Amino acid sequence: MGLLDGKTAIITGAASPRGLGKATARLFAEHDARVAIVDLDADQAGSAADDLPGSGHIGLAGDVTDRDACDAVAKAVLEAFGRIDILVNNAGITQPLKLMEITPENYDAVTDVSLRGTLYMSQAVIPQMRAQKSGSIVNLSSVSAQRGGGIFGGPHYSAAKAGVLGLTKAMARELAPDGIRSNAICPGFIATDITAGKLTPEMKAQVLAGIPMGRAGEASDVAGCALFLASDLSAYVTGSEVDVNGGSLIH
Ligand code: NAD
Repeated sequence: MGLLDGKTAIITGAASPRGLGKATARLFAEHDARVAIVDLDADQAGSAADDLPGSGHIGLAGDVTDRDACDAVAKAVLEAFGRIDILVNNAGITQPLKLMEITPENYDAVTDVSLRGTLYMSQAVIPQMRAQKSGSIVNLSSVSAQRGGGIFGGPHYSAAKAGVLGLTKAMARELAPDGIRSNAICPGFIATDITAGKLTPEMKAQVLAGIPMGRAGEASDVAGCALFLASDLSAYVTGSEVDVNGGSLIH
C-alpha cells in the first residue's frame, strides 16, 4: 500500500514536464494518491494528469493569482474526488534581475505567483480541510529566501520566497488546532525548465562549486521531500522549512 493511499492532492504549476510539481505528482500517484494537476493551460494540465501512473487523476486550468480561479479549482476537485487532503503550492516564476532593474510589473509578476498564489490557493482548500479535521499544505520556498538569492532569481524572487516561509509558519500556527499542517521546502539548484537555457556555463560552474554534494538536484529529490511532508510520516511536523540543497546552505 502506498503512503498516500485514499488521499487526494492538488499540485499547482505541475504541468511543466521536467518540473518539481510534475515529479511530485508522479511520486504521489505512485503512492496511490489521486492527483489534481493545476496549471495555466487546461490542455497541458490535462495531458500531465493523463501521463501519471494509475487512473482517476485530473488536470485543471487555474491561475493561482486569481482568487475566484482558486475557489473554482477547490470546488472542481471536491466534486471529482470528494475530499482534499494535500495541497502543494508549487507554481512559481523567477527573473534574473538586479535590485535597481525591478519594475513594478516585475515585482507584481514574481511575488503574485509565489506569495499571493500560495495564500489564495490555501484559502480555497482550508474550509474543506477544516471540515475533515486534517490536511497537509506543502509550500515551495527556495534557498534564495534563506541566503538572499545568489543562484538565479532576483531580490524580488528572494522576497517572495521569504514571504512564503512566513506565510507557511503563520498558517502552521493558526491551522494546527484543526489538524492541518503547513510546511515549506527550500530547494537549492534543481535542473528544471525554470532555469533551462538561461544559465551560462560560467554561472553553472559557479553554482556547482558552491554545492558540497557536487551536483545539481533532481526534481525527484524535491518530490521525495514533498511526499514525506504530505504523508503521515511527518504527522508531528508543522511550521518547518526543509532544505533540499545538497549542502549548499547549511545553517
Ligand atoms: P517550472 O518553470 O518548471 O514550473 C513552474 C510551473 O508553474 C509552470 O508549469 C507554469 O506554467 C506554472 N505557473 C506559472 N504561473 C502560474 C500561475 N499563475 N498559476 C498556475 N500555474 C502557474 O518551475 P520548477 O523549477 O518546477 O519550480 C517549481 C517551484 O519550485 C517554483 O515555485 C520555484 O520557484 C521553486 N523552486 C525551484 C528551484 C529550482 O532550482 N528549480 C529552486 C528553488 C525553488
